[in-house]
Amino acid sequence: MAQDLRDLMGGPRVRMAPSPTGLLHVGLARTALFNYLFAQKEGGKFILRIEDTDRERSDPKFEKDIVEGLQWLGIKWDEFYRQSERIAIYTQYLEKLLKESKAYYCFCSEDELESKRQDQMSRGEAPKYNGKCRELQAAEVKKYLAENKPSIIRFKATSKKVMFHDLIRGQLEFDSSLVGDIAIAKDLATPLYNFAVVVDDFAMKITHVIRGEDHISNTPKQILLQEALDFPQVQYAHLPLILGPDRSKLSKRHGAVSVADYKKDGYLPETLVNFMAFLGWNPGGEREIFNLPSLVKEFSLENVQKSGAIFNLKRLDYLNGFYIRQKSIKKLAELCKSYLPEADQSELEKIVGIYQERLKKLSEIKELAGFFFQDKLVYDKELLKWKNMTDKEISQSLDKSENLLSKIKEASWTKENIEKVLMPEAERVKDRGYLLWPLRVALTGQKASAGPFEIAAISGKEKTLKRIQNAKLKMQNNN
Ligand code: GLU
Repeated sequence: MAQDLRDLMGGPRVRMAPSPTGLLHVGLARTALFNYLFAQKEGGKFILRIEDTDRERSDPKFEKDIVEGLQWLGIKWDEFYRQSERIAIYTQYLEKLLKESKAYYCFCSEDELESKRQDQMSRGEAPKYNGKCRELQAAEVKKYLAENKPSIIRFKATSKKVMFHDLIRGQLEFDSSLVGDIAIAKDLATPLYNFAVVVDDFAMKITHVIRGEDHISNTPKQILLQEALDFPQVQYAHLPLILGPDRSKLSKRHGAVSVADYKKDGYLPETLVNFMAFLGWNPGGEREIFNLPSLVKEFSLENVQKSGAIFNLKRLDYLNGFYIRQKSIKKLAELCKSYLPEADQSELEKIVGIYQERLKKLSEIKELAGFFFQDKLVYDKELLKWKNMTDKEISQSLDKSENLLSKIKEASWTKENIEKVLMPEAERVKDRGYLLWPLRVALTGQKASAGPFEIAAISGKEKTLKRIQNAKLKMQNNN
């Protein structure tokens, strides 16, 4: 059936249907990516549908985050919908189900439902609605509605075996008698999730529902609703859960999970796309670097695994380092700008030039190179000491550097010249560290950094000499 529909419309139609009740997290972004890749590969359409019917929990700021996150990742949609703008469509189908007695008003109070639920659970039964309002007379319903008695709309779930073929998990079977009569709307203008999804998947001619495995228990409910509404069944593909390294479901406990946080941390969109593609999918073979177009070429649902996908942060960092090294210096400098706002483009280009090889995340540039822009470096005097140097030897070493460097003319202040001037002296003593370590610490205040020649070259003559003098003062004042 779904195949026919697909042929008729020239390619599959898939959707990502986030509720704007939280930030775009990796799980959701992975769902979007797989839908996008599938649509692109098969010459179909990818639809973004914001499921904002839960007015209390939905917030436009989350919709904005989701939309911007997907745009940043390069995941483009062909059509966009917002459920809150489609209420009339749901009302029409709710009325239809009520009219056909496939749905009914339920006036049971929350307390009543809760005590029934407790009862059932104490008897070891799965809680479900007992069907009390199923047989209310029309006149009674009318009276209660006129009195504004609180109510919801329930769907009469038929007891049967619901079967469907999941493209990833194979043939699945559920006993719908365990489901009970599910709530499908708070009122005619407030549909609930399972109902609105079914109406929209039909209205938007969705052929494949590709979503996280956590939705699998909703699928039989949605199939029953499709049947009641005479809608064709769609094809389902439930993606494996994403697990943390401890094999529990990925959550905030495992660190950043929102795309915005990864972006802030300095992961590149191409890294996340490449990384997320492998959360449950594998093309086979050794190749592990894939950009969006190459993923489109390779992607297939057949290569999606059933078992949980482990989130490996080391791999994420490895990929990010790889993509950072692919950037031109100019581009990398632009990307690092927000982490070192004090630097101008040309300074940034010099700085990223010496750190590109070792950067795993863009944000690390702040830690690595922030010292260039600090007025006064704060570090412990002890740090200036190489091996067993005495205070006197440190001061002498700094004097030597200062003397040698001050001879270089401003216009000749390059890394090569600095090296040429300092190296013979560095080589003359026991080991280079006696000259170069105190100098490097004086210029950076850091235990580890790039080499002193490069740093002095970028810092400029004036700042270099100033920092050496400050280090000498530190030695004199013993602080
Ligand atoms: N609104 C649902 C969610 O955010 C979407 C479920 C679906 O894809 O059917 O989880």
